[in-house]
Amino acid sequence: MAEVSARGPDLPPARPVRLRTDVSGLPRYVPGRAAPSDLVDKLSSNENPYPPLPSVVAAVRAELEHVNRYPDPASSELVAELSSALAVPREHLVPGTGSLGVTRDLLRAAAGDGDEVLFAWRSFEAYPLLVWGTGATPVRVPLRAERHDLEAMADAVTDRTRLILVCNPNNPTGTAVRRAELGRFLDRVPGHVLVVLDEAYREFVDDRDVPDGIALHRDRPNVAVLRTFSKAYGLARLRVGYAVAHPPVAAALRACAVPFGVSGLAQAAARASLNAGPELLERVRTLLSERARVTRALRAAALNIPDSQANFVWLRLGSHAPAFADACAAAGVMVRPFGDEGVRITIGTPEENDRLLRIVGDWRV
Ligand SMILES: *Cc1c(COP(=O)(O)O)cnc(C)c1O
Repeated sequence: MAEVSARGPDLPPARPVRLRTDVSGLPRYVPGRAAPSDLVDKLSSNENPYPPLPSVVAAVRAELEHVNRYPDPASSELVAELSSALAVPREHLVPGTGSLGVTRDLLRAAAGDGDEVLFAWRSFEAYPLLVWGTGATPVRVPLRAERHDLEAMADAVTDRTRLILVCNPNNPTGTAVRRAELGRFLDRVPGHVLVVLDEAYREFVDDRDVPDGIALHRDRPNVAVLRTFSKAYGLARLRVGYAVAHPPVAAALRACAVPFGVSGLAQAAARASLNAGPELLERVRTLLSERARVTRALRAAALNIPDSQANFVWLRLGSHAPAFADACAAAGVMVRPFGDEGVRITIGTPEENDRLLRIVGDWRV
């Protein structure tokens, strides 16, 4: 392409800006496709299908009056309310810009050039991307039968391992690790390696044998937990999540955060959501009974799906995955294919799930 320049004749020719050479090779985060219109069901991003509660909208609206001022950089009120809701000392709580933002900061606090960060694969596709930003090497340990292989993960720890991500329940398979296996794993991992339990879907867990990371972290200084307001609480667009970690880790995390990252709108919405706990829990209960209904119907259609503890189900369709996703899109339902492995389908409203099940009923490979 001919260079068109507005530069004066005295200036040297423009040269490309020097960037890190590995940026261009970076895997891109592929978001669930945006719904082309409101007539389409978006079951591709694990969002909450219900709009925000009126009390949450009111809190955000009130906060709008103050957007000329910076937010509280420490999210003090949110931290105080989380502290009593979760029975966790304030020093253990660090809110951030979605749990993605918190994950990035945790990684930056713990790992750098020459270090290794372990996680299962397939798991949350943001992990490799966020690890890359630290300069550390991502080490992927394959799932076994769609579940974390915690034995293999413990075997993969080396002198360079700084951080291990355990996505529980796992995105995109929905499977969860159980109390005994996680306990054995944590006993094997050296105490200087930070184990991060990503519990983005914790509120959808109904198997009592799936441990609560926050309870687990109390006696284990090398365990940190990530939670978010994006999924069960339905605030995905506002970007707020938090870490629960012991004070040295929490302090390092705060040091690595972008100042004023959590907006005032996000803080207000998160606080109002904590206040609306029972109403939100009711919605979660509806989604859980829909998850059970969708699972039964898909299995009745001879589809093989693992037990999900999240707000989505995983269809292991292998090479049929892209065609299935296209068939859904053609019928007005967006789902999320992952290569030639499978398709992740978010549990929506009962009406959305009905439409999905009709498509499945009509679908032939
Ligand atoms: C959705 C999701 C998150 C949440 O991200 P936010 O940044 O809080 O919106 C974190 N981890 C996993 C595994 C997820 O699926």
